[in-house]
Amino acid sequence: MNNSVLVTGSSRGIGRAIALEIAQAGYSVVIHYRKERSQAEELQKHIASIGGNARLLQFDVTDRDQCKQILETDIETHGAYYGVVCNAGIIRDGAFPALSGEDWDSVIHTNLDAFYNVLHPLIMPMVRRRKPGRIVTLASVSGLMGNRGQTNYSASKAGIIAASKSLALELAKREITVNCVAPGLIETEMTDDILSKEVMNMIPARRAGKASEVASLVKYLLSPEAAYITRQVISVNGGMC
Ligand code: NDP
Repeated sequence: MNNSVLVTGSSRGIGRAIALEIAQAGYSVVIHYRKERSQAEELQKHIASIGGNARLLQFDVTDRDQCKQILETDIETHGAYYGVVCNAGIIRDGAFPALSGEDWDSVIHTNLDAFYNVLHPLIMPMVRRRKPGRIVTLASVSGLMGNRGQTNYSASKAGIIAASKSLALELAKREITVNCVAPGLIETEMTDDILSKEVMNMIPARRAGKASEVASLVKYLLSPEAAYITRQVISVNGGMC
């Protein structure tokens, strides 16, 4: 059975935790990276050492032609994916008056345009499998509530939520679910500079989340047991909203 799941941005952070968690659950993982081949290879070796199966794919999610070419070639060789986790993302924070056009564009391109760039080449092959499939996208608490200093990031994540809900409507009768996971503050390189005592006091649970806590939910949403869950936004945020 082809149970391949592509996880974008899985050489580190939340993506890495997702790749590891789902490999342990028996999925064949397509580890995607942009720059860090050595980290991606290290993860692939780690997955092999625990008896899992993973291969590597490199592309920039902002490059539409590259996504199409590499993804189409990969599924020609290995078959259409069972699941896709759209995880790659960036922040370029700043108060709105100080935000450059480049800060705006790079966040929208990486976080929102990637929804189209990555999923568009993959959807019809998934539909043609005529089997259940799973899409999980990573949004954020900022995409639900907005956040000071994150107009660009909040807009990109709100866009992901709306795009995911719309795609879920289109794919529901094909047994392909589309859900969004909205983390709060999770300990990764992305949040290294943000995790102060003041910020912790804003979290009812009084701690940052772990990447593995996001990964557990993603694993569940990928599972056969989650077949009747679609078009949902599920938060992992220690009670932030
Ligand atoms: P990290 O910064 O730790 O990792 C981001 C990943 O995205 C990296 O693997 C990176 O690859 C990849 N990436 C970034 N830009 C591109 C690109 N243009 N093309 C391909 N890959 C790219 O982030 P997190 O693990 O913290 O975040 C993962 C997701 O979770 C993101 O979508 C983020 O917005 C979301 N999220 C995170 C929260 C948190 O608190 N950490 C909270 C809410 C949501 P490379 O190293 O090659 O650039």
